[in-house]
Amino acid sequence: MRTPPSNPEEANVLVPSAVHMHGYVDCHCHISSGDFDKDIEEVIESSKKAGLLALLAVAEHAGEFDKIIELSRRFPGFIFPCLGVHPVQEVSPEQQRGASVQDLEAALPIIEKYKDQLVAIGEVGLDFTPRYVHCDADKDSQRQVLIRQAQIAKELDLPLNVHSRSAGRPTIHLLKEQGVEKALLHAFDGKPSVAMEGVKAGYFFSIPPSIIRSEQQKLVKQLPLENICLETDSPALGPEKQVRNEPKNICISAEYISKIKGVSLQTVMEVTTQNALRLFPKLKSAIRP
Ligand SMILES: [Zn+2]
Repeated sequence: MRTPPSNPEEANVLVPSAVHMHGYVDCHCHISSGDFDKDIEEVIESSKKAGLLALLAVAEHAGEFDKIIELSRRFPGFIFPCLGVHPVQEVSPEQQRGASVQDLEAALPIIEKYKDQLVAIGEVGLDFTPRYVHCDADKDSQRQVLIRQAQIAKELDLPLNVHSRSAGRPTIHLLKEQGVEKALLHAFDGKPSVAMEGVKAGYFFSIPPSIIRSEQQKLVKQLPLENICLETDSPALGPEKQVRNEPKNICISAEYISKIKGVSLQTVMEVTTQNALRLFPKLKSAIRP
């Protein structure tokens, strides 16, 4: 890992290739969501106009894996697939439950089938929001699903794209216990002090556009820019509640970080994109300077 520059404005001197890296990477996006079925071409086009170089399409359950792979083929070198089982599974739009080993078993053969095309395993993680966990066994089942996926990621030498809600500390501790070395903690809602344990372990944290209306602003202040990535989590976590979020809003995250850190937008762009390339090295072959 390179040492962080003492003056962040010098980042492009230390990383010469970054000079040409004019664009953002959306490290966590649900582009396979039905919300984008009607106008996916326009959504991708406007995200490119906003400076997006690539986006990581994460999955929540086995039922959407084929769609994600199809999208990555339809937009080669721009949409990069991540497959995984989310800690919360939707039974119906009104009903959700914690992930079980059965959900994982349905996913494993498809992950195996597409393993060479994946840039990460995700979205995986822990969600201890009270309505999803009713007892310790529910938490344990989520843990088992995450542990197994952490092992698969290690076997495939892939990073993890990680969700944690009301479970910041247990998530980071589990990843460390499992010896996970490469992980992106997306939209982390835990304490900054817990996030800093993740930084020590070499993990990255991605910041969504909803940061402008969230209580996690202290987190951005404390995290070193060298551990920050950008994400949109589209169609969720947009700048306005209840409005469909789009990958083009990635610049809202970047502008916010630039303001909080007191560095130029260009620096945020270059450093976060270099971070994304360090964490997801398979992007390198496709993103040409
Ligand atoms: Zn997500």
